[in-house]
Amino acid sequence: MATKYQFQEIRSQILLDLLPAYPTSFSEYKTSSRLGEMVFGTPPPHPNLVLNLFVTHKVAFALPFAYYRACITSGPASLATTTEELALPPDILKVALRGQAQLKMDEVKLAKRLALQDCPGLMCFLHIPAHRAKVFDWVLPVVSTQSGILERGDFSGTGYCVQCSQRFVQELSKAKEDTWKKLPLYFSLPLWETLAGL
Ligand SMILES: [Zn+2]
Repeated sequence: MATKYQFQEIRSQILLDLLPAYPTSFSEYKTSSRLGEMVFGTPPPHPNLVLNLFVTHKVAFALPFAYYRACITSGPASLATTTEELALPPDILKVALRGQAQLKMDEVKLAKRLALQDCPGLMCFLHIPAHRAKVFDWVLPVVSTQSGILERGDFSGTGYCVQCSQRFVQELSKAKEDTWKKLPLYFSLPLWETLAGL
Protein backbone atom coordinates (compact mmCIF):
# COMPACT_ATOMS: atom_id res chain seq x y z
CA MET A 1 0.00 0.00 0.00
CA ALA A 2 1.39 3.37 -0.97
CA THR A 3 2.15 5.66 1.90
CA LYS A 4 1.53 9.37 2.04
CA TYR A 5 5.29 9.81 1.66
CA GLN A 6 5.28 7.79 -1.56
CA PHE A 7 2.47 9.92 -2.97
CA GLN A 8 4.48 13.04 -2.18
CA GLU A 9 7.48 11.52 -3.96
CA ILE A 10 5.38 10.75 -7.03
CA ARG A 11 3.89 14.25 -7.01
CA SER A 12 7.35 15.82 -6.75
CA GLN A 13 8.59 13.76 -9.69
CA ILE A 14 5.58 14.69 -11.84
CA LEU A 15 6.11 18.36 -11.03
CA LEU A 16 9.77 18.11 -11.99
CA ASP A 17 8.80 16.57 -15.32
CA LEU A 18 6.35 19.42 -15.92
CA LEU A 19 8.86 22.18 -15.25
CA PRO A 20 10.42 22.43 -18.76
CA ALA A 21 6.97 22.63 -20.33
CA TYR A 22 5.63 25.13 -17.80
CA PRO A 23 8.71 27.25 -17.21
CA THR A 24 8.98 29.75 -14.39
CA SER A 25 11.63 32.00 -15.89
CA PHE A 26 11.91 33.81 -19.19
CA SER A 27 15.23 32.13 -20.01
CA GLU A 28 13.67 28.69 -19.49
CA TYR A 29 10.76 29.73 -21.65
CA LYS A 30 13.08 30.80 -24.45
CA THR A 31 15.15 27.62 -24.41
CA SER A 32 12.48 25.02 -23.79
CA SER A 33 11.89 22.76 -26.79
CA ARG A 34 8.52 21.43 -25.64
CA LEU A 35 6.16 23.97 -24.18
CA GLY A 36 2.78 23.60 -22.59
CA GLU A 37 0.42 20.73 -23.18
CA MET A 38 2.85 19.09 -25.66
CA VAL A 39 4.50 17.53 -22.62
CA PHE A 40 1.50 15.23 -22.23
CA GLY A 41 2.09 13.52 -25.59
CA THR A 42 0.26 13.32 -28.90
CA PRO A 43 -2.38 14.44 -29.44
CA PRO A 44 -1.88 17.06 -26.74
CA PRO A 45 -4.80 17.73 -24.41
CA HIS A 46 -6.77 20.95 -24.77
CA PRO A 47 -5.07 23.71 -22.74
CA ASN A 48 -8.32 24.32 -20.85
CA LEU A 49 -8.15 20.78 -19.45
CA VAL A 50 -4.56 21.27 -18.32
CA LEU A 51 -5.38 24.62 -16.73
CA ASN A 52 -8.35 23.17 -14.89
CA LEU A 53 -6.24 20.25 -13.65
CA PHE A 54 -3.46 22.55 -12.40
CA VAL A 55 -5.91 24.82 -10.59
CA THR A 56 -7.70 21.87 -9.01
CA HIS A 57 -4.43 20.27 -7.85
CA LYS A 58 -2.80 23.57 -6.90
CA VAL A 59 0.21 23.24 -9.22
CA ALA A 60 1.06 26.82 -8.36
CA PHE A 61 4.30 27.35 -10.31
CA ALA A 62 2.70 26.18 -13.58
CA LEU A 63 -0.43 28.32 -13.37
CA PRO A 64 0.73 31.53 -15.10
CA PHE A 65 1.92 29.68 -18.18
CA ALA A 66 -1.06 27.30 -18.17
CA TYR A 67 -3.37 30.33 -18.19
CA TYR A 68 -1.28 31.92 -20.92
CA ARG A 69 -1.45 28.79 -23.09
CA ALA A 70 -5.19 28.63 -22.70
CA CYS A 71 -5.42 32.30 -23.71
CA ILE A 72 -3.32 32.09 -26.86
CA THR A 73 -4.36 28.73 -28.23
CA SER A 74 -6.73 29.03 -31.16
CA GLY A 75 -8.15 32.33 -30.01
CA PRO A 76 -10.94 33.25 -27.60
CA ALA A 77 -13.34 30.72 -29.10
CA SER A 78 -11.07 28.08 -27.65
CA LEU A 79 -10.78 29.59 -24.20
CA ALA A 80 -14.48 30.29 -23.87
CA THR A 81 -15.60 27.13 -25.63
CA THR A 82 -19.09 25.90 -24.91
CA THR A 83 -18.12 22.29 -25.59
CA GLU A 84 -19.05 20.75 -22.30
CA GLU A 85 -16.00 18.55 -21.74
CA LEU A 86 -13.60 21.43 -22.53
CA ALA A 87 -15.40 24.33 -20.88
CA LEU A 88 -13.66 25.95 -17.91
CA PRO A 89 -15.52 26.41 -14.62
CA PRO A 90 -16.87 29.99 -14.44
CA ASP A 91 -14.39 31.22 -11.81
CA ILE A 92 -11.35 30.05 -13.79
CA LEU A 93 -12.83 31.28 -17.08
CA LYS A 94 -13.44 34.73 -15.64
CA VAL A 95 -9.81 35.06 -14.53
CA ALA A 96 -8.56 33.75 -17.87
CA LEU A 97 -10.74 36.07 -19.96
CA ARG A 98 -9.66 39.11 -17.96
CA GLY A 99 -6.01 38.16 -18.42
CA GLN A 100 -6.49 37.49 -22.11
CA ALA A 101 -8.10 40.89 -22.67
CA GLN A 102 -5.34 42.68 -20.78
CA LEU A 103 -2.60 40.78 -22.63
CA LYS A 104 -4.11 41.64 -26.01
CA MET A 105 -4.50 45.30 -25.04
CA ASP A 106 -0.88 45.48 -23.96
CA GLU A 107 0.21 43.70 -27.11
CA VAL A 108 -1.61 46.16 -29.37
CA LYS A 109 -0.13 49.09 -27.45
CA LEU A 110 3.36 47.65 -27.78
CA ALA A 111 2.94 46.88 -31.48
CA LYS A 112 1.78 50.43 -32.22
CA ARG A 113 4.56 51.96 -30.18
CA LEU A 114 7.26 49.91 -31.91
CA ALA A 115 6.02 49.90 -35.47
CA LEU A 116 5.02 53.56 -35.53
CA GLN A 117 8.04 54.91 -33.68
CA ASP A 118 9.74 58.01 -34.98
CA CYS A 119 12.87 57.29 -36.94
CA PRO A 120 15.89 59.09 -35.50
CA GLY A 121 17.38 59.55 -38.98
CA LEU A 122 14.03 60.39 -40.64
CA MET A 123 14.85 57.57 -43.04
CA CYS A 124 11.98 55.21 -42.51
CA PHE A 125 9.35 57.70 -43.50
CA LEU A 126 10.50 57.14 -47.07
CA HIS A 127 10.26 53.38 -46.88
CA ILE A 128 7.32 52.53 -44.68
CA PRO A 129 4.55 53.17 -47.24
CA ALA A 130 5.98 50.47 -49.46
CA HIS A 131 5.72 48.03 -46.59
CA ARG A 132 2.51 49.34 -45.18
CA ALA A 133 0.65 46.06 -45.36
CA LYS A 134 3.31 44.23 -43.37
CA VAL A 135 3.53 46.97 -40.78
CA PHE A 136 -0.20 47.00 -40.25
CA ASP A 137 -0.32 43.23 -40.08
CA TRP A 138 2.09 43.56 -37.22
CA VAL A 139 0.39 46.49 -35.53
CA LEU A 140 -3.07 45.02 -35.55
CA PRO A 141 -2.84 41.63 -33.85
CA VAL A 142 -6.45 40.62 -34.11
CA VAL A 143 -7.67 38.87 -31.02
CA SER A 144 -8.11 35.64 -32.92
CA THR A 145 -4.43 35.18 -33.79
CA GLN A 146 -3.02 31.96 -32.44
CA SER A 147 -0.16 33.58 -30.64
CA GLY A 148 0.55 36.03 -27.92
CA ILE A 149 3.02 38.74 -27.17
CA LEU A 150 5.72 36.23 -26.19
CA GLU A 151 5.60 34.53 -29.59
CA ARG A 152 5.89 37.72 -31.62
CA GLY A 153 8.73 37.93 -34.10
CA ASP A 154 10.17 41.16 -35.39
CA PHE A 155 9.53 42.34 -38.90
CA SER A 156 13.00 42.46 -40.30
CA GLY A 157 13.20 43.22 -43.97
CA THR A 158 10.25 45.58 -44.00
CA GLY A 159 12.22 48.64 -44.89
CA TYR A 160 13.18 50.02 -41.49
CA CYS A 161 16.63 51.60 -41.23
CA VAL A 162 19.38 49.94 -39.21
CA GLN A 163 18.85 52.18 -36.19
CA CYS A 164 15.12 51.55 -36.10
CA SER A 165 15.55 47.82 -36.63
CA GLN A 166 18.00 47.63 -33.73
CA ARG A 167 15.74 49.61 -31.45
CA PHE A 168 12.83 47.48 -32.52
CA VAL A 169 14.56 44.20 -31.67
CA GLN A 170 15.78 45.54 -28.31
CA GLU A 171 12.41 46.92 -27.28
CA LEU A 172 10.52 43.83 -28.36
CA SER A 173 12.86 41.64 -26.37
CA LYS A 174 12.54 43.87 -23.31
CA ALA A 175 8.76 43.97 -23.64
CA LYS A 176 8.64 40.17 -23.73
CA GLU A 177 10.81 39.95 -20.65
CA ASP A 178 8.60 42.48 -18.82
CA THR A 179 5.48 40.60 -19.86
CA TRP A 180 6.95 37.38 -18.52
CA LYS A 181 7.79 39.02 -15.20
CA LYS A 182 4.23 40.17 -14.69
CA LEU A 183 2.55 37.17 -16.32
CA PRO A 184 1.15 35.91 -12.98
CA LEU A 185 -0.43 39.31 -12.33
CA TYR A 186 -2.49 39.09 -15.51
CA PHE A 187 -4.23 36.14 -13.89
CA SER A 188 -4.51 37.53 -10.34
CA LEU A 189 -1.73 35.23 -9.10
CA PRO A 190 1.15 36.09 -6.75
CA LEU A 191 4.52 36.93 -8.29
CA TRP A 192 6.80 34.14 -9.59
CA GLU A 193 8.98 34.10 -6.47
CA THR A 194 5.97 33.53 -4.26
CA LEU A 195 4.48 30.89 -6.55
CA ALA A 196 7.72 28.91 -6.45
CA GLY A 197 7.34 28.49 -2.70
CA LEU A 198 3.70 27.37 -2.77
ZN1 LIG B 1 14.53 54.44 -39.09
